[in-house]
Amino acid sequence: MKNIEDYIRTIPDYPKPGILFRDVTTLFSDAKGFRKAVDALVQLHVGEEIDLVAGIEARGFILGGAVAHQLGKGFVPVRKKGKLPRETFGQEYQLEYGTDVVEIHTDAISKGANVLLIDDLIATGGTAEAAVKLISRAGGNVLAASFVIELPDLGGRQRLEAYDIEVLSLCSFAGD
Ligand code: AMP
Repeated sequence: MKNIEDYIRTIPDYPKPGILFRDVTTLFSDAKGFRKAVDALVQLHVGEEIDLVAGIEARGFILGGAVAHQLGKGFVPVRKKGKLPRETFGQEYQLEYGTDVVEIHTDAISKGANVLLIDDLIATGGTAEAAVKLISRAGGNVLAASFVIELPDLGGRQRLEAYDIEVLSLCSFAGD
C-alpha cells in the first residue's frame, strides 16, 4: 500500500538551485492519494471545536476546501496581495525563496472563532506565521495548523508552537 509521501514528486533545483521542491500535484491528481491526504487531515481534527477552516493560497485552498467540506465548516482564504475585493489586513513574510505578502478580509472571521489552518507544506513556518497573525488580527484564534508535508529541519513547527498552536503533518522529509 502506498503512503502519502509516495504520491509526492520531488523536483531538484526548482524554483532555484539547491531547493528540493516537493510537488503535490502528483498527490492531488491521484484519486486515492488525494482522498487519503484529505481523509487523514480530517481525521486529525474530527470532534475538535473548530468553527472555520483557513487555507493559504494556492495549494492550501485545494486541501483546505476539501477539509472544510468534510468537517462541515466554512472556508476562509488567505490570499496573495491584491486578490481580495474588500478591505483587508496584510502581512509581509519571508519565503524560503524571496518575500511576499498575504491578506485576509477584515470581516472574514467572527470574533473568537476557532480556526484550523491548512497548507500543503511547512518549511520555515514564515508563511503559516503570517497567516496566524492575519487570522488573529481578524478576530480568530488558530487552534491547530495541519500540513501534508513538514520539513522539520527548517523549524516551522517550533515557530507556530510558540503561539500555542497544535502543529500536525502527514509526512516529513529531512533536509530542505
Ligand atoms: P515556509 O514559509 O518557509 O514554511 O514555506 C512554506 C510555503 O512555501 C508553502 O506554501 C509551500 O507551498 C512553499 N514551499 C516552501 N518550501 C517548499 C518546498 N521545498 N517544496 C514545495 N513547496 C515549498
